[in-house]
Formats: sequence, C-alpha cells, structure tokens
Amino acid sequence: MFDVNSVRKDFPILGSTVHGKPLAYFDNGATTQKPQCVIDAVVECYTKTNSNIHRGVHYLSDQSTEMYENARKNIQQFINARYSQEIIFTSGTTGSINAIAFSFGEKFVKAGDEILISAMEHHANIVPWQMLCERKNAKLKVIPVDENGELKLDAVDSLLTEKTKILAITHVSNVLGTVNPIKAIIDKAHKKGIPVLIDGAQSIQHVKIDVQELDCEFFVFSGHKIYAPTGIGILYGKEEWLNQMPPYQGGGDMVDCVTFEKTYYNSLPYKFEAGTTNYVDAVGLSVAIDYIKKLGFDNIAGYEKDLLEYATNKLQTIEGLKIYGTAADKGPVISFLLENIHPYDTGMILDKLGVAVRTGTHCAQPIMDFYEIEGTVRASMAFYNTFEEIDRLYEGLLRVKTMFG
Ligand code: PMP
Repeated sequence: MFDVNSVRKDFPILGSTVHGKPLAYFDNGATTQKPQCVIDAVVECYTKTNSNIHRGVHYLSDQSTEMYENARKNIQQFINARYSQEIIFTSGTTGSINAIAFSFGEKFVKAGDEILISAMEHHANIVPWQMLCERKNAKLKVIPVDENGELKLDAVDSLLTEKTKILAITHVSNVLGTVNPIKAIIDKAHKKGIPVLIDGAQSIQHVKIDVQELDCEFFVFSGHKIYAPTGIGILYGKEEWLNQMPPYQGGGDMVDCVTFEKTYYNSLPYKFEAGTTNYVDAVGLSVAIDYIKKLGFDNIAGYEKDLLEYATNKLQTIEGLKIYGTAADKGPVISFLLENIHPYDTGMILDKLGVAVRTGTHCAQPIMDFYEIEGTVRASMAFYNTFEEIDRLYEGLLRVKTMFG
C-alpha cells in the first residue's frame, strides 16, 4: 500500500521549514522536488564517472557514454517507444517543442498552411508555432474550450483541414488540470493524415504513457516535472518522421563527416543532439523514472485523485472562492480566486504560513483572457502531499479572507 509518510522521507526538502513553519509544497506544476536517490545519482556522476560522452577511448568516457545510452533505453521502455533512437535528449519541454517547430516547420510547412493548437496551451506550445507561422506565412488555429475548461471537441473536425500540417496539444492543462481525451483527438487527426504532437509536461508524472498505444507522432516532456533534475527533457518522435526532418542545430556529435564543401549528418538520435548534451542529468532522469516505477502509477494516480477530491471539496466550502477548471477528468491541480482579493496577496499570505502556491498567469495568458481574469492562485499537488497540508492551505485561505475580505 502507498505510505505517504515513508515516501516523504525520500525527499529531503520536504522536511524543511519556511518562515518558521513546516513547508507545504503545492507548486508541483512548476517543478517537482527530488528524491535523495536522484540527488545522489547526480553527485555520483560528478564524483565518480564524469567525462564527456561519445568522444573518448578512455575508461571514464566509456562509463559515461554507457550510462547515458542506458538512460535513453530506460526512457524508451518507460514510454514504450519502439526504438531507442526515437528518444532525443533536449533541455526540456520548451526545448523539444522549439526543436520540432523549427525542424518539422522547415521541412513540411509552407505559406498558407495551418497549425492547430488549443486554447489552453502553455506559452511553450504557442509561441514556437507562432514564430514558425511568421517565418512561413502560415496560420495558427485554435481549438476552443468551454467554461468548465474542456475542449470543444465538436470543433476539432472542422478545424482539421487539408491545410493543417500538425496538431500540437497538451495532454493535461497546467492551469485548469483538464485531462484532454488525446487518444480520440489523435485518431481524428490521423483520419485526415495529420501528425500530432502531445505536450506531456503535466501528464508524464501522473499517468502511464504508452506512445505506441497513443500512436502520436511526437511526445515531449521535462525531467524536472517528474522528480528529475532541471535542464533535461525528452523529445520522442516516430522514427519515420524524425528521419525526414532536418537537424535544428549544427555542431559536434550531430555529424558523420564534415568538409568545407559538404557535411553529412549523423543518424538518429544524434542528428538532433548537437554539442555536449546534459549527460549527467539524463542519468538523473533515468533514476527518477526507476523511482516512479517502484512507487507504481496505480498507487500514484489513486492517491493523487484522493488528494484532488479532498482539496476540491474543502476549498469549495469557502465562500467567494471560485475554481477555474472543473472538467470531469482532472489532474491534481486547482486554480482558484478569492473574490475581490488579488492572487498575489493570497500567495504572499500563504507563503508566510509555509504554504507554497503559484500565482499569476502560469505562462498561459490566452486561457486567462478567455476567463477574463489577470491570473489565478494555483495549488498543484504531488504524491508526497498530505491531507493535513490541504487543511493548512484551507485554513490559510480563511486567514487571507479575514485579512483582505
Ligand atoms: N507545457 C506545459 C503544459 C507546462 O506545464 C510547462 C511547464 N510549466 C511547459 C510546457 C514548459 O516546460 P519547461 O519550462 O520545463 O520547458
């Protein structure tokens, strides 16, 4: 059975105090905390095996290369990719989407074409496509959402046209928590022969991903949102697509043969890994994945669902509190506002009580515009949060109300 108290002991930062109060960390949507095994793995790499990969004949370089390539295989198995060369290491979700938007865009997008995204995207899945549209004189189209924060699925069919070159959509909204029915959406796009990119930044840590079952062409995520170090992320792409796409950066390791007349590129995955990659944090990501696998997604999802339900029921009893994002299928995220109280003030008072939440637009301004608000307070939960911490969030909000109400 899932024992939160024992799990919490794996995360040293969770035992700390903030402003003299025990830390209650509800900012997991922004980044997650790291278990000791991940911290140890990174320290161990620098202490015992550090050496640049792929370039040396010496012992340490061999060790380092083997650990990096084993990490790739572990990630391949974790998301059930067909081949390890379909796993490209990047700096994160943002890095992955920019890489695809540039490379895919260079090859497949021309003037008059369309790119389809949704109204609930993070800026990371808006701006790179806008930049591409500007470069190519293409058009960005948007799947609308309803008041609950669910996609208007009826609109998808007519928005997917013969001009649509790619559909790029988030699996789980970082603001609203909405879990989008991506399998159904992917199937709709495939019926018209359109490839799909899934932004998994907010799903990879909560649900088991099987890219072959989803059948998406691209799936991207960040290490730091799945209990791994910052600065490492994954671009999964189907081999047949990645092979057709040009490199987006030139440099060492991505080449096979270089002369001043012509350069021949390396094969997958190296074609997309120019320069010295973040080989240490790749190992950290692999260790984080082992940790998650040991906990088990069923345990994680079951416990996080209970946390979400408890928090939603409790927060809803507060008069004047409005929750943004009430989809039937939600990840453990609650965005809300207290009537007539600025989210920043709410966040500041909660912080003084040791409760860490995020306030603002959460890098998703268009969905704020849809609700005609400037921002929200967001409590995003992880499997190491407790029901007592939710009680403290609730009591903190009552305090905010008496101070500002
Ligand atoms: N997409 C979504 C849905 C996100 O939540 C985030 C991070 N908040 C990103 C993309 C960007 O991730 P990163 O900053 O790690 O590149």
